[in-house]
Amino acid sequence: MELAQLLHERITREGAITVAEYMELCNTHYYATRDPFGTGGDFTTAPEISQIFGEMIGIWIAQQWLEAGSPHALLCEAGPGRGTLMRDMLRATRHVPQFHAHIRIRLIESSPVLQAIQRRTLKEMHPDLGWSSEVATLPSLPMFFVANEFFDALPVHQFFADGAERTITLRDEKLCWHDHAPVAREASPASCMFLRQIATHIRNHGGAGLIVDYGYTYLPEDANRDTLQAVRRHAYADPLIAPGEADLTAHVDFSTLAQEARVAGVQAWQAQTQGTFLRRMGAELRAAALCKTLTPEQCATMLQGLERLVSPREMGELFKVLALTSSLEKPPAF
Ligand code: SAH
Repeated sequence: MELAQLLHERITREGAITVAEYMELCNTHYYATRDPFGTGGDFTTAPEISQIFGEMIGIWIAQQWLEAGSPHALLCEAGPGRGTLMRDMLRATRHVPQFHAHIRIRLIESSPVLQAIQRRTLKEMHPDLGWSSEVATLPSLPMFFVANEFFDALPVHQFFADGAERTITLRDEKLCWHDHAPVAREASPASCMFLRQIATHIRNHGGAGLIVDYGYTYLPEDANRDTLQAVRRHAYADPLIAPGEADLTAHVDFSTLAQEARVAGVQAWQAQTQGTFLRRMGAELRAAALCKTLTPEQCATMLQGLERLVSPREMGELFKVLALTSSLEKPPAF
């Protein structure tokens, strides 16, 4: 059955649904039925723009692993998309002594379509590659965790100033907002719960993590509190039109995630902007080195990609990087 029809029947039968329920139903359908990335799809993510993104994250992770004493460990990624970030991390770290031999790769991915693509991308790169639907069932080993544009896809609830929750209903057979005021607050219990599980694992078994996403560490008074957005074919769309056919996301609340991690007992380092993180990790030096092996046209394209990732006018400032560590030692770039 079409998702639109399913939603229609559900609302007719049970009444209005929350924004979080809507987001979850739409995104599950959306990711389960397509490969949404790149120019032919709906949106493009950092690892799909430049290999340098995954390389810098790989170096950060390998360095944390070395600091931890090169243990047998999990390299875990949530929402790996096409597997591009993991592929670039693995390529950048293949000369780190014992790193590949000591890690087991575990991917947390709900979409069967994307799982199949991840398997294709990564199966030649590492012998111990597996999928897990739950953090709680992962082996008791130190965990090195990464996620890019994962938390923004998890459901958010929206509330009005009087505390009532915003819902979606039907009017003249069409989905519509059941609104009586502007949105005053968002909350994502699903994100908090997921982060708490990762942080608890890192507290119990050691390790570190990087969470990259678009979002905020604090919201100014006059900020728009409704951050839900739909993106389809590289353009903003109305979230209620074509449910399950557009990518639904909300800004990630980094302060709340950091707080959640601290409560679970790990260090959460003040989120940096993506631009600052990549520069401090040496992205520009890496680009210069790469250019020596490229034609002038290839080099220009590569530099353009890097510019998109670091420029404050593009992804450099809106995107943030949050680091979690079990050690008290300040990690590089933070
Ligand atoms: N990290 C990738 C993909 C980002 S898109 C990149 O940067 O290109 C979001 C990813 O999270 C997709 O792989 C999607 O299928 C997955 N995802 C979304 N919600 C999920 C959930 N609840 N559990 C597991 N994976 C989920």
